[in-house]
Amino acid sequence: MTKVFLNKKMNPRIAGGHPWIFGNELQPITDANLMAGNLVEVYTPDKKFVGIGYFNPKSQITVRLLTRKHETIDENFFYRKIMAAWQYRQKLGYRENCRLFFGEADDLPALIIDKFNDYFVMQTLALGIDLWKPAIVAALEKIFHPKGIYERNDIPVRELEGLPQQKGFLSAPFPTEIMLNENGLQFYADIETGQKTGYFLDQQHNRKAIEPIVKNAKVLGAFTYTGTFEIHAAHFGATSVRGIDISEQAVQQANKNAALNHLENICHFEVANAFDVLKRWAKEEQKYDVIMLDPPAFTKSRNNIQNALNGYKEINLRGMKLVENGGFLVTSSCTNLVNPQQFLNTIEMAAKDAKKRIRQVLFQTQSNDHPIIRGLENTEYLKFLIVEVRNR
Ligand code: SAH
Repeated sequence: MTKVFLNKKMNPRIAGGHPWIFGNELQPITDANLMAGNLVEVYTPDKKFVGIGYFNPKSQITVRLLTRKHETIDENFFYRKIMAAWQYRQKLGYRENCRLFFGEADDLPALIIDKFNDYFVMQTLALGIDLWKPAIVAALEKIFHPKGIYERNDIPVRELEGLPQQKGFLSAPFPTEIMLNENGLQFYADIETGQKTGYFLDQQHNRKAIEPIVKNAKVLGAFTYTGTFEIHAAHFGATSVRGIDISEQAVQQANKNAALNHLENICHFEVANAFDVLKRWAKEEQKYDVIMLDPPAFTKSRNNIQNALNGYKEINLRGMKLVENGGFLVTSSCTNLVNPQQFLNTIEMAAKDAKKRIRQVLFQTQSNDHPIIRGLENTEYLKFLIVEVRNR
């Protein structure tokens, strides 16, 4: 295995367990046989072993460490990692559905696996892990005997690694519209054509958190996707639920899910752009007891954080104006580029501009199957806030 050397003594980030090594942290590499995707041993300038990682000179993250030990990286290594991730999820109470593997937080950078009962959806977002797909599939087969495995690698970030965007079966083909159970409800999700891996598991415990505030409430949800929050609201006793999403496919899926749970008389979804209608309905002085907002990441890049903050402020301000005095706003942000404090500050500014006083009910993050590693800032990404909204 090729040895590569850090150009300075190990910095606190790497020493503290961060698995990324950037190109400018390495001494020039002279081994002409070293190919993109190969494993390398990483050493400090004074030849102390750091770990073994995969190499890609195309990527700014030139090496991602897989282990800090002298161990063989083979099919069995991946089996042990995936088994450990599964045992951790089981310990936390997960059985049917969970993010089985959350990349860096489970010690294999750039590998994501969602478990939807007997079906698995996988993303390999860097070349060095993409090459190990057969070993990862073999491990899933051995541990779970799945009904199906699907690859959702149609993600632009792969291009930074010189990888194509692609999706398809990694097992025998199967119908990709699957059904999953969550909190006693059922949801269809399409893992081939749906967003990301097909279903957002990261809000699982947050969906439960709305139970006390939606009873007998008139609810409006925006950015509903498969309608999970809204159908939960109806199930928890809301008297009426209106849901909007800009995607025709999402709205169809959400209406189908409402019917699947016999809640179609309470819960209706329609196609609309949240930015337009929230503004219009606020002008018309429509009122709801509970407003729920779960927008997409408004930015993918650090350079556009201000745009994202403006987006959050705008929709939350509109949302607060639609809340009855003493009602609730349920609001999320799913990008790690906006940190929790920035998000809270933005909501506070929105409240000020809307002339509302907000009282925090709850502020939490993603479900426990998406573990946060302290010091690995990109593992903490979801912000979920419930506030009571009163007129000033
Ligand atoms: N709440 C969902 C996840 C929402 S994902 C869940 O728990 O599963 C974000 C959704 O916002 C996507 O479905 C996307 O189609 C929708 N969206 C993006 N821009 C929008 C806009 N301007 N207006 C309404 N919906 C929008």
